[in-house]
Amino acid sequence: MKPYLQYLVILLDDTSVAYCHADNPLKERNLMPIETLKKAILFGMKQNLMIQYVYPEYELPAEYNEVIESIDNLKIGRDVKVTNEVPTAVDCDNIVLRIKIKDLIAKQYDIAALLPSVKRMNICLTDIETFKDEQIAEYKKALNTLSTVIVNLYKEQKHPQLNILTDRLTLKEMHNCEAGIGNITIAPNGKFYLCPAFYYDEKTGVSNKMNHKTKDASRSVGDLENGLCIPNKQLLELDHAPLCRNCDAYHCNRCIWLNQKLTWDNNTPSHQQCVIAHLERNAARDISAKLSKAGYNLPEIKEINYIDPFDVKEEW
Ligand code: SF4
Repeated sequence: MKPYLQYLVILLDDTSVAYCHADNPLKERNLMPIETLKKAILFGMKQNLMIQYVYPEYELPAEYNEVIESIDNLKIGRDVKVTNEVPTAVDCDNIVLRIKIKDLIAKQYDIAALLPSVKRMNICLTDIETFKDEQIAEYKKALNTLSTVIVNLYKEQKHPQLNILTDRLTLKEMHNCEAGIGNITIAPNGKFYLCPAFYYDEKTGVSNKMNHKTKDASRSVGDLENGLCIPNKQLLELDHAPLCRNCDAYHCNRCIWLNQKLTWDNNTPSHQQCVIAHLERNAARDISAKLSKAGYNLPEIKEINYIDPFDVKEEW
């Protein structure tokens, strides 16, 4: 994890696609003014940031395209396809599949069947907060179904990436979402947010840690006129997260928005987040063991006897 800003996420419209845990509840178009877009790009250039545009479904006015292409970029919702349904086939290299846990379990074989045709699939669970320990066995089984396909493909020297399983195979340190640390989002109003979810909360009036609606729902952390201003930024960082800094579920999202929603603290994870990440980590360990026997040289993933670091009794 690199503790400095690397990415600028530009939400081109209020209806830009949701590509992570949080759904986008905004249904009315509100395109970023072109002058704001130019200023956002200039900010990105000055800070030497990589630009990630998040597209709405509709086509942008022609004059936007020239401005957009004035800097190297990645287009989420275009280059990276985002889908909320398991497709029958994929026609792109890089796809984000946003899905509820029960649907992933129900459609595990359909998802597994797509793996041979993708370079990378990011599975994003959209209802982590609902996960119950009673679902552990079913989730493990779904991971096993996906793992079996991955192992077989690796044995054929094909290497599809599936974030929840293959990222952990090679990571040697935390590689999380890093909202507010490694990346920052700018919304159509020209203000910065830790991630798009905080903008959605502001727009829908969800402002405090109890997810209540209040009159002042400001969640911005600066704007293009005055620059970034993240209060107590250190509290977002890994070394201020007592559980996460000792954890080796390196692929875990560590979603600060979900943390705040579920534990009222940006840097304190929920039981649900940790259990899901550890089931994935352990499934990656099983894959690693099988691939090692097949001749792959992968970093060791230790055996552990917990699936929530909060339950570990001894001192780390
Ligand atoms: S599994 Fe839990 S403790 Fe580990 S990185 Fe994820 S949120 Fe942090």
